[in-house]
Amino acid sequence: MKNFSILASHVLVPPAMAAIMDDDSATIDGFLAAGHVCTIMGIQEYFPLVTKYKIPIVITGFEPVDLLQGILMTVKQLENGICALENQYSRVVLPEGNPEAINTIMEVFEVSDREWRGIGNIPRSGYQVKPKYEPYDADKKFDIQIPKVAENSDCIAGQVLKGIKKPYECPMFGKVCSPQNPLGAPMVSSEGACAAYYHFSNAIEQITEINQA
Ligand code: SF4
Repeated sequence: MKNFSILASHVLVPPAMAAIMDDDSATIDGFLAAGHVCTIMGIQEYFPLVTKYKIPIVITGFEPVDLLQGILMTVKQLENGICALENQYSRVVLPEGNPEAINTIMEVFEVSDREWRGIGNIPRSGYQVKPKYEPYDADKKFDIQIPKVAENSDCIAGQVLKGIKKPYECPMFGKVCSPQNPLGAPMVSSEGACAAYYHFSNAIEQITEINQA
């Protein structure tokens, strides 16, 4: 088949969580691990993070009640002074994930370094197409030149991702930066922290009131 190509931009979640926790300035108390990722990858790769960083990780689904329960489970762990890996999304996520899908991923991709917006390069945090499948690798096939886009110096996405600052503490939030004109990754996707605050908190109203005072 010659008309099929892959431009691999897949990322691995645990190395990014480790990179955040390795930053001494990070103020993360617990993680809600993304349920859709665990549906494929299972839960095993999170145990070393719980052990190393002594932090609760709760695998959580996406319905509003899933998120509320995931937060509740995390808070209960913190209140009881324990840190464990729990699976709130057990109706979908099996401990072993989806072995057939994992085998296919391992067959086609190999682990590579990956650039993360707001954080920088994280070693061994992405997937690239294995040399064996190079004829399908769009990166090689089409001589693609992906220009390096410098991060906006006014964007504090890295601090938001590490829990150091809230989105509304960014001077750009709701003024220059909005879902219609995003300056950073957390404002681009609907589930990004800045976009969520923009849509669902009253931070915009508070900022407007402060500016009017
Ligand atoms: S509000 Fe915009 S500029 Fe500020 S951290 Fe979020 S994405 Fe970056």
